[in-house]
Amino acid sequence: MYLKEIDFSGFKSFADKLSITLNNNTTCIVGPNGSGKSNVVDAVRWVLGEQSVKNLRGDGSMTDVIFSGSKSRKSLNVASVSLIFDNSDHYLNIPYEEVSVKRRVYRSGENEYFLNGEKCRLKDIINLFIDSGIGRDSFNIISQGEVQRILATSPHDRRVVFEEAAEVLKYKKRKEEALRKLDKTHNNLDRVNDIITELDSQVEPLRIQSEKAKEYLANKEGLDKYEVALMAYDIENMNFEYKNEKEKIEKLKEEITSFSTSSNTYDVDLITLRQKQDELDKTLSLKKQELVKATEKKEQLNTKKKLLKERSKYQKEDDKVHENILVLKDKIASLEKDIDIDSKELLILKKEQEEILKDKRSQEDKIGDLTKKREYLLKEYNTKNKEKYDLHNKIDSLNRYIENGANLSSSVKGVLSNPKLNGIHDCIGNLVDCDEKFTKALEIALSSSRQFIVVENENSAKEAISYLKDNHLGRATFFPLNIIKARGMDSDTLNILDGMTGYIGILSDLVSYDSKYKNIILNQLGNVVVVDDIDSANYISKQISYRYRVISLDGDIIHVGGSISGGSVKVSRSVISMKQELSHLQQELDDVKGVISSIDESFKELDSTRSREEQVLHSYLSKLVEEEGKIAQKSEVISLKQADLEELSTEYSNLVHVKEDSISKEEEELISQYYEAEKEKDEISLEIKELEKDKDKVKVEIENLEADYKVSNSKLREYNQELKELEISVSRKDVKLDHLLNVLNEEYSLTFEKARDNYKLDIEVEDARRKVNVYRNNIKRIGMVNLDAIEQYEKVSTRYEFLTSQKEDLLNAENTLLEIIKEMDEVMKVEFKSTFEKINEEFKKVFKELFQGGKAELKLTDETNILETGVEIIASPPGKKLTTISLLSGGEKTLTAISLLFAILNVRKVPFCLFDEVEAALDEANVDAFGHYLDHYKGITQFLIITHKKKTMEYADTLYGITMQESGVSKLVSVSLKEVNTRG
Ligand code: ATP
Repeated sequence: MYLKEIDFSGFKSFADKLSITLNNNTTCIVGPNGSGKSNVVDAVRWVLGEQSVKNLRGDGSMTDVIFSGSKSRKSLNVASVSLIFDNSDHYLNIPYEEVSVKRRVYRSGENEYFLNGEKCRLKDIINLFIDSGIGRDSFNIISQGEVQRILATSPHDRRVVFEEAAEVLKYKKRKEEALRKLDKTHNNLDRVNDIITELDSQVEPLRIQSEKAKEYLANKEGLDKYEVALMAYDIENMNFEYKNEKEKIEKLKEEITSFSTSSNTYDVDLITLRQKQDELDKTLSLKKQELVKATEKKEQLNTKKKLLKERSKYQKEDDKVHENILVLKDKIASLEKDIDIDSKELLILKKEQEEILKDKRSQEDKIGDLTKKREYLLKEYNTKNKEKYDLHNKIDSLNRYIENGANLSSSVKGVLSNPKLNGIHDCIGNLVDCDEKFTKALEIALSSSRQFIVVENENSAKEAISYLKDNHLGRATFFPLNIIKARGMDSDTLNILDGMTGYIGILSDLVSYDSKYKNIILNQLGNVVVVDDIDSANYISKQISYRYRVISLDGDIIHVGGSISGGSVKVSRSVISMKQELSHLQQELDDVKGVISSIDESFKELDSTRSREEQVLHSYLSKLVEEEGKIAQKSEVISLKQADLEELSTEYSNLVHVKEDSISKEEEELISQYYEAEKEKDEISLEIKELEKDKDKVKVEIENLEADYKVSNSKLREYNQELKELEISVSRKDVKLDHLLNVLNEEYSLTFEKARDNYKLDIEVEDARRKVNVYRNNIKRIGMVNLDAIEQYEKVSTRYEFLTSQKEDLLNAENTLLEIIKEMDEVMKVEFKSTFEKINEEFKKVFKELFQGGKAELKLTDETNILETGVEIIASPPGKKLTTISLLSGGEKTLTAISLLFAILNVRKVPFCLFDEVEAALDEANVDAFGHYLDHYKGITQFLIITHKKKTMEYADTLYGITMQESGVSKLVSVSLKEVNTRG
């Protein structure tokens, strides 16, 4: 490599554009003082990145290098210098045969660097030349008066030259970089350690709090699940009981009213009976008095009759016949009276029999009615049981239908029923529910998309699709939750719709669904307008310029753009409507079951009444039998007595006829009177007997009435008690229901219907209650929790883990950096030491050669610390003792410095050197030695030497002259070698 060309423009005294072309040999630049030769050195240094204005012999700013004008020329605003190197040997590590480096500075102070015409950074220039032996501070560029600097600087500063020669500057730079990084790493580590220490104190308490919160949430979730399900269950049951009890209350009230009414009739009946009883008593006592009188009358007549009998005995002493006639007459009269009385008794018996028969018939009618009622109930019972059976069947088949996927396509069923597929939720139709009146609109709006399957994400969809493909199950459409976006109505349209006649709402607002499906539901239903009928649909669609689908409650639809579909096309039923039907059927079933159980109750009541009434009938029948016996007996007695009477009457008429005797009129009258009196007495006795019977009957009736009254009174008390209890129970249930509904609403924001539909008990009720208790106790035990702790812990622990791993990374980086530094130190030590030793050897030789004798050497100030040791120069010109550098003469110092320069060049070959009057202080012999020595580098190193010494010029291959003809501007002139070459 060598420097091919230097191009100036506006740099210091080089105001005009000027190029110095160079060869790969020794070039001398000559010219008068002040012509601008040293400016060439400045220019080279400047391009290589010199930042010190002082080193460029300025004293202000870098803009000092711009041509500042002269008497005849104006100042310039920009200065630039380019160095063009031949790099065909690729000495510079860059893939170009020629390398041009350019620096430009503007008056404004702005600096620019270019590498092969491309703008670059100063750093790129420095990196390009580092360890190349060419650099702004390198030993190969020696400015005017600087040659002794190497001797004047301290041993430690001097080592830089050796480092450069040893090519370890790049390592040094890298080491510095590594140290800087290390420092930064240390700082980062300190910072990370500080944060870790701070987090340390937070992590554990937060972890405990987070665990506690998680435990709480798990228990709360369980509690909510079962508590809500139980609440829904309890509400449903309680409501059912509540309704039943209410119905019972109504019935009881009716019963109580009817009891109160009948209790009034009891009173009236009782009074009537008691009056009857009193009347009977009165009649009885009158009859008894009559009986006494009749008896007395009978006795008086009997006495009279006896007297008459005695008198007749006395009058007709021998006449036994008359006595017999009298006796017969008496017997006949007695028998006639008995028959009369018995006939009356028979009549009474028959009357009684009639009454019993009447009672029996009415009893039979009663039983007949009960039998009819039972038969009717049985018919009703059978009908209801049939209804129950049919409902069961319908519910079962509907349930099975829903469970089997309703009328979903086989592909959808296939996906939904495969438990191995991940992230499958359900098809859209199954995820949305609505009030019955919106069913049609919803079914029409969803139509085909009701079979779209909602999945967790696109991976779940992919997995399901490949399952469908592998099993040839057809196609399905998937809605990944993480992708599908919500759609809605623009606010202008909503404003138009608001308040319009017939407008009901946006379909997504009219349906219910789990909030996690919100985007899906809004995507499908968020832009569907629901109106009451087709007329409203037409009008409203027009108002909103047919930009959204409008559906009537009947399912007529006006599409975007205005096309209309409607009529009676049968939409395949959705699970929504099936579920609604199911709940209706269930309701019907419950009603039928209620009717059946009330019929059962009626059966029981009817049967017990019937058995009571049959007992009564039975008693009538036995009474009837008894009465028939009595009638027969009485009839028998009468006929016997009539036979006796006939016999006695015959005997009497015979006797009267034979004896021609008869009883007197008086006797006959007396006998007649007597038996009349006895008959009267017997009749009264009979009446008394009947009256007593009536009295007994009334007594029984009163007793029965009182007993009934007692029974109904106790029933009434019972009913009242039951009513009271039921009323308390109903009001308790009312409060409880209110409470449960409030809890559902306030704690869970749920209506009963939603709770019932979404929270089903999947275990036995008692197990669920036990679970709820366990969850409750757990929550109580857990106590106060900080729910934010979960997120906080997550954040803090993630940060903690991140920082811990960062700390590890930093520690690793630190170790790596330390290792790199150590490695670089090793390399630097080795390189520095070996280079130093080589230079030392060369220095001894070159010194001897240039001084033609004498001794010199280099020494390390601290051999134990190669990385920092300084370099001492010891020189002893011929005939002089080894002495310190400062004691040498100016020329000796220069020649020593040049010796060292050459020693370094011998060890570290550099392609290019720029010396500005380095040999100025030498005498001619020494200049000659210097010049002579330059020949050693022919073909190795290119020299550009600024000199006033002719001797030096003699060693040049090319000569350039710099003049300043036009005042203040340097010019290049060619100089003939012959003019100076005296070497021959
Ligand atoms: P010597 O032989 O005495 O060392 P020289 O040839 O090396 O002299 P230089 O030191 O390179 O001369 O040049 C100095 C000249 O450059 C001075 O005349 C100075 O006025 C001129 N100069 C320096 N900076 C500028 C500048 N920014 N604008 C114009 N001229 C400048």
